[in-house]
Amino acid sequence: MNKRISALTHEEVIEAISAFLESPPDGTPAEVIEAFSSMGSKQIIPPRLFLETVRQAPVAISITDERARILYANDAFEELTGYSSDEIVGKNESVLSSQSTPAQVYQDLWQTIQKKQVWKGRLINHTKLKQEYVAELTISPVLNAHGEIAYFLGMHRDITELHRLERRLTFQKDLTETALNAVPMVIALLSSDGRVILDNYAYKALEGDFRGVEPAQVFLEALQQQIQFDLEAACRAHGKHRLFTNIELRLDPPAGTSPRWFTCSAVRLAELDEAVQHYFKKAAESPDSILLVANEVTQSRHRINEARLNMIRANMAEQQLVQTMREAISAAMFKLQVPLNVIKAALSMPRNRADSEALSEALQQALASGDEAMESLHAALPLQNLEQQTQVNINEVVHEVLRMSTEQLLAAGIVVDWRPTTVLPAVNGRVNAIRGMIKYLLDNAIQAVHEAKKELQEIRIETCSDGDDVVITIIDNGVGIPAPMMLRVFEPFFCGWEQPGKHAGMGLTMAQEVALSHGGVVELDPDFLGGCRVYARLPIHGPGDN
Ligand code: FAD
Repeated sequence: MNKRISALTHEEVIEAISAFLESPPDGTPAEVIEAFSSMGSKQIIPPRLFLETVRQAPVAISITDERARILYANDAFEELTGYSSDEIVGKNESVLSSQSTPAQVYQDLWQTIQKKQVWKGRLINHTKLKQEYVAELTISPVLNAHGEIAYFLGMHRDITELHRLERRLTFQKDLTETALNAVPMVIALLSSDGRVILDNYAYKALEGDFRGVEPAQVFLEALQQQIQFDLEAACRAHGKHRLFTNIELRLDPPAGTSPRWFTCSAVRLAELDEAVQHYFKKAAESPDSILLVANEVTQSRHRINEARLNMIRANMAEQQLVQTMREAISAAMFKLQVPLNVIKAALSMPRNRADSEALSEALQQALASGDEAMESLHAALPLQNLEQQTQVNINEVVHEVLRMSTEQLLAAGIVVDWRPTTVLPAVNGRVNAIRGMIKYLLDNAIQAVHEAKKELQEIRIETCSDGDDVVITIIDNGVGIPAPMMLRVFEPFFCGWEQPGKHAGMGLTMAQEVALSHGGVVELDPDFLGGCRVYARLPIHGPGDN
């Protein structure tokens, strides 16, 4: 039997809302209670005023019976749905359904409100003119004195614009994330305290390579060292948008993995500040965030390094050739000087016999042609390249020499323990000559461990700064140098090796010459046991530099 549905009287509306306000069901959203409470209650404000307030409330309010037949609708409801109060009263709320909401949602709605609980959700409604909109709806059951459902109180608002914004935001977020993840560059958005707000796959991959160490911290440390970059200051100094572009950085990942190179750029972005209390705060008052973009250039850096090493190899080979020629000619001159000295001594002896005249003449001739030969040899001495002084990074030079000697070391089965001091001042000097000096000392160490034929063949190389000097220490567990020979080994052409091979006995002489020409020295440790310890000391200011 269909009962005729008539609109609620004013008293009934006030009664219904007051009953709801007296005991709002569990789960009633705070904003619903607040909305009604702000209207007051019939005890505090006159009933007509209370009703007027409900009528004029900015949210669409309807009161239905227990089957959702509308008994009351306020002005906002009329305005939103396009139905006048007279048209809508008596109709089921389902007239608003655009038939696009899944049945599951309605089932959930009814199951909830019939349990006397509040339901809150979104439905797709349409207006009288079939205009669809997304409704955010709250339904609260209103109970009578016996605790039975007397009415349902519905409040809904049009959130179509919000829904569009949400969709647009989700789309843009997906688009940004896809684009960020598709690029091979490492990208990270950092807050002023170094927190990573956003990153991409390339960044996460780097995090894996760095075994969990935050790559942003490694970048920031390298930037601090290289360009004194201060994240916090950069975030607070408003103005310049682009902070730096294509700074080449070397990152030394933790746990001893090989170094990697990146070109790094950074721009400043206004940080997302959602705090309500900052609504009136000017943008300039909150710190910005920094977008760090880094492109890995390790491969090309390796290629450049390889090419450079090849150039150095060629350069050293040429240097060695010149040196060998100088050594050979100097040796010939040295040897020729001995008979010439004998002739000079013979000529200076008193001559009292006539037949000595002929001998003297022969000796004079021999001396003259000897001197001539000496001069020709002297003229044939190849000139040493005059090299410019530059700021030399000794760690880099030692590393280069080690890389050039890798094959030699591997073939001999020698273990090299390379311990550079991380922060080493540059030495003002001739880089090729210094490289040659280190190579002479390393070659000696290799020969020494080779001749010792020990099971474990070891060479350790250390660098450190000592006052105004940089000291390179080369320690080997080879045959060692007996104390009486410690000075002689620096003499030209002195060769103490069991198997001299191509060693002409000039290595230490040349190394010492390079060190002395830089104002430094090469020294042997007389107290070292079980091999040899040699120090090459170079002043950082170099020769003639104040
Ligand atoms: P219906 O046949 O009405 O119902 C679909 C399913 O809902 C049923 O299969 C059943 O599971 C459940 N159901 C329906 N009526 C009852 C009932 N009396 N008891 C138990 N279960 C039931 N709907 C909107 O689309 N838009 C609104 O803005 C809206 N506002 C509402 C406000 C209030 C206060 C209330 C109480 C309900 C409101 N509804 C609203 C729900 C509406 O009454 C309908 O249930 C819904 O629109 C589905 O209508 P329908 O004709 O497609 O299907």
